[in-house]
Amino acid sequence: MVKRKHIKFDQIRNDDVTTRQINVHREGFEPPSKNWIMFDCPFCTCEVKAYVWSICGGGKRCQNCGALFGGSGNGYQFTELIK
Ligand SMILES: [Zn+2]
Repeated sequence: MVKRKHIKFDQIRNDDVTTRQINVHREGFEPPSKNWIMFDCPFCTCEVKAYVWSICGGGKRCQNCGALFGGSGNGYQFTELIK
């Protein structure tokens, strides 16, 4: 079994990558200055919580499937890893 490395931002325009929009279903605030959002991973439906500064900075990764999410509201995953 070949284990593939997780996707990175410099790969998201490759032909073998699928882009899906995320649907935020909860937002919140943690004092003193952390805004967070919660959404379901569009690839594995696992719930993901991300701090806004984090997703807009380096991006956020799904803990379950390794999909990558950016500040644009899109998620990216290698097409071959999507079930
Ligand atoms: Zn996932």
